[in-house]
Amino acid sequence: MPVFPIQIVGIATTIPSGLPETPNEERVMKITRKDFLRLSGLGLLAVAGRKAVRAVAERTAEQAPTPPAKPVRCGMAIDLQKCRQKDGCDRCIKACHSTHNVPQFAGRAHEVKWIWKEPFNNVFPAAQNGYTREFFGDLPVLLACNHCDNPPCVDVCPVNATWKRENGVVTIDFHRCIGCRYCMAACPYGARSFNWQDPRPAIANVNPDFPTRTQGVVEKCNFCEERLANGQGPACAESCEEKAIVFGDLDRTDSEVRQLLRSRFAVQRKPELGTGPAVYYIV
Ligand code: SF4
Repeated sequence: MPVFPIQIVGIATTIPSGLPETPNEERVMKITRKDFLRLSGLGLLAVAGRKAVRAVAERTAEQAPTPPAKPVRCGMAIDLQKCRQKDGCDRCIKACHSTHNVPQFAGRAHEVKWIWKEPFNNVFPAAQNGYTREFFGDLPVLLACNHCDNPPCVDVCPVNATWKRENGVVTIDFHRCIGCRYCMAACPYGARSFNWQDPRPAIANVNPDFPTRTQGVVEKCNFCEERLANGQGPACAESCEEKAIVFGDLDRTDSEVRQLLRSRFAVQRKPELGTGPAVYYIV
């Protein structure tokens, strides 16, 4: 144990037992650190101090901010070859619309849709030559919001009812939407729908886990962000038996969606507009 030389001037003669007695009033003692603490009454304080330091250290460790999670960039790849294998299949559309209480109105005038299909020729008119037309013909292509990198719909909203999340999802606050429909005019993909009438009577089975909307509100695909929050994948991708829809992190080089996009040729809708769609079509 280390010994600390302590010089005590004018100290009283009472020396705690166990310590060497020296008759001089001015004396120099060689005592241990333990003796010194006991002498000065600091022993308990030292113990308390050690506990306090340990407690603070533990608390600091608990409160230390967790390092920020690696950013995620949500994206989707739709394999048109696989989609083609099940002609007429609409499981993904049904799964999406029933999950999100999308109303089913008769006729197209007041149609509300989150995902839908259109013929390849209409979706990719510039990607045509006589032979692709032969091959793809009127192949129905699954369409939805592209969750664009630079979403023009977000820029035009006067009340910030729509915005882009850090993970790339372009979302809508249904309560804040004032129904001006600027976003619908700005979207070059027709991805947003407007509730011209009360949608609730047109919902066959209401899913209580997702909010219904009201008349005068815009809506669209939200990449199932409520399911992502629960660790689930988008309803459309999970419903597809052909695994034609692959959803994942575009920023992670080892994600399934990135591997697909690395190994297969894929196109985006209207890339010339610079909106940066996060939905890719593997042809
Ligand atoms: Fe906005 Fe349309 Fe792009 Fe979706 S597809 S983010 S609604 S501009």
